[in-house]
Amino acid sequence: MATGNINVSVENIFPLIKKFLYSDHEIFLRELISNATDATLKLKHLTSIGEASVEYGNPVIEVKVDKEGKKIHVIDQGIGMTKEEVEKYINEVAFSGAEEFLEKYKDSAKDSGIIGHFGLGFYSAFMVAHKVEIITKSYKDEPAAHWICEGTTKFTLEEADKQERGTEIILHINEDDEEFLEENRIEELLVKYNKFMPIPIKFGTKEETLPLPEDAPEDAKPETKTVDNIINNPEPAWTKQPTDLEEKDYKEFYRELYPMQFEEPLFHIHLNVDYPFNLTGILYFPKMTQDMNIQRDKIQLYQNQVFVTDNVEGIVPEFLTMLRGVIDSPDIPLNVSRSYLQADSSVKKISSYITRKVADKLKTLFNNNREDFEKKWNDIKIVIEYGMLSEEKFFDKAQKFALYPTVDGDFFTFEELEAKIKENQTDKDGNMVVLYASNQDEQHSYIQAAKDKGYQVLLLDSPIVSHLLQKLETSKEKISFVRVDSDHVNNLIKKDDENISKLSDEEKEKLKADFEKVVSKEKYTVQLEAMDSDAAPLIITQPEFMRRMKEMQQTGGGGMFGMGNMPEM
Ligand code: ADP
Ligand code: MG
Repeated sequence: MATGNINVSVENIFPLIKKFLYSDHEIFLRELISNATDATLKLKHLTSIGEASVEYGNPVIEVKVDKEGKKIHVIDQGIGMTKEEVEKYINEVAFSGAEEFLEKYKDSAKDSGIIGHFGLGFYSAFMVAHKVEIITKSYKDEPAAHWICEGTTKFTLEEADKQERGTEIILHINEDDEEFLEENRIEELLVKYNKFMPIPIKFGTKEETLPLPEDAPEDAKPETKTVDNIINNPEPAWTKQPTDLEEKDYKEFYRELYPMQFEEPLFHIHLNVDYPFNLTGILYFPKMTQDMNIQRDKIQLYQNQVFVTDNVEGIVPEFLTMLRGVIDSPDIPLNVSRSYLQADSSVKKISSYITRKVADKLKTLFNNNREDFEKKWNDIKIVIEYGMLSEEKFFDKAQKFALYPTVDGDFFTFEELEAKIKENQTDKDGNMVVLYASNQDEQHSYIQAAKDKGYQVLLLDSPIVSHLLQKLETSKEKISFVRVDSDHVNNLIKKDDENISKLSDEEKEKLKADFEKVVSKEKYTVQLEAMDSDAAPLIITQPEFMRRMKEMQQTGGGGMFGMGNMPEM
């Protein structure tokens, strides 16, 4: 038997990192700012526990674009590195100083918000730069260091005369990547990835209008002053405690997330767990339209306030991708592929936690203010019904708050509905029969006829309702759903049998025959069963199969004639 060491040559790894580790070149900036943020948070932590006796102050991270010199600078005032630390953290690929720090300060730094993980982020700089420099001065009393590398395994490392604490990374941008020398492009990236990061990020300056003094003359021009252009909001709402936020703070944050969205959200759900995994976030229910496709992919996924993706497929159950908002979890890996993400067990737990949380919130809303919940029902039903169809657990929980509206504008839970109909809406097999209409105008006379018999008629008009009814039929016992214009309605056992017909059978047959002489027997069916209804003394219908065929052929009209809208004979 032979044993040995596999010799991984860094020479081979470099191109791999550059090409495949990250699918997207643009994330280099996210990685460098994450490192600058980590460096600052580490200093914050060390000063707070008394291990660093320097002034923490109000550190900023600055990003500068030097278009002429074809360089990007990322400058922080964080912990910095000594020469030895550069050797250790930078020259050893895949050695993460972030992980080492968390390991060392395990208990106290658990919630410090440190981002780094794998010790690879820094090298993403070489995706866009042919040469990278680090000029860094540690908070420890040691000379600064200057590291230069041109994308090979060779580097130079020497002392430098930088006096201020912190690190400056200088990227010499590739010819192919000159898009990143455009200020607009960089600002776009900063807003996308760093908008809610915890340390202020400065990108240039801007003019700010000063408020006019009270006694200013009417035609006074407001003065402006030049201030730092800070890209981010370091304390986004989801990082705060729900008890510290008011309704208006949630609405404000919604506008911050979706500046182009003018409609207010219906309600929010503040997520906040730290066991068995860490997760914070705020989800919003927007007003839904009937179209389920156009509004997905609005939930943003963050890791320690760093934007990861707005494609949360596989992380959030599909029916909830119609919601909006933010999810932040340090347990969601930043740098890995989507398929890995979806297979990750903590990601799976996150998904079921979110489902539960959403169900709980809906139940609370329903219990606390049913009237308001009923008012919102039409705007949220599509999410709930879709969830009931696709997630068994959600289906179970939804029994407590899913509503079934009637044509008269009442809203019943399923339990309430059952209580209403179990006495007088059954068929000969003893099944409860739920009548429903899908279009109040088209099915008007059928609805009226059923109501006149004392039946409850639901109004179910969402696009997935037929699937939902199937689901309900299979999961509940002895229940069937019948559309109000279906022939089956006549098979119901009626509440008050005496009332049904005032004509003898003979008289009925005769009357029926008379009508059939007038209308074509092949195309229409004459029904006398509805004769005791005020709305339609009798109904002439097309047989159900013909109607359905017609509907399928999309010839419109639905093909039904109650007396009210029947062509004149
Ligand atoms: P990770 O962030 O996952 O640890 P990186 O490859 O991004 O890995 O960075 C490697 C290490 O280099 C960091 O863990 C940190 O110790 C050090 N480092 C990188 N950037 C800075 C910086 N701006 N200031 C101080 N140290 C840094
Ligand atoms: Mg990093």
